[in-house]
Amino acid sequence: MNKKEMAHELLIKNNINVSYQRMKIMEYLIGNHNHPTVVDIYNDLKEQIPTFSKATVYNTMKLFEENNLVQSISIKEEEVRFDPDISFHGHFLCKECEKVYDFPVEIKGLKTSFEEEFNVENSYYFLKGFCPECKK
Ligand SMILES: [Zn+2]
Ligand SMILES: [Zn+2]
Repeated sequence: MNKKEMAHELLIKNNINVSYQRMKIMEYLIGNHNHPTVVDIYNDLKEQIPTFSKATVYNTMKLFEENNLVQSISIKEEEVRFDPDISFHGHFLCKECEKVYDFPVEIKGLKTSFEEEFNVENSYYFLKGFCPECKK
């Protein structure tokens, strides 16, 4: 299955009305590990999509998030990034190149009595520092 077919299937499965813009955004997100912001998505796709706007991206990402197709992460203040990988994993922000890297997090043993008492809906695991490239 190619990305276009995968995107189409994901929208249909989640009862999201298929539109050209939603398809393009979903295709762009599949397998994307860059954790793009609304502005990134807009800039990367604006040439391909006539009548594209940041509001469209914003609304589409909201819809995708409500349907658990992406998760939003905010590492830096007032900057929301999107991740099509909705599994629990950690994010590392490089302070130099500002790239966001994924890393696996062992979730076993994290269930505390706090979590049994409170209803935790989201959990985030962030690290900051310098990536191997910038460390040099
Ligand atoms: Zn870096
Ligand atoms: Zn991620």
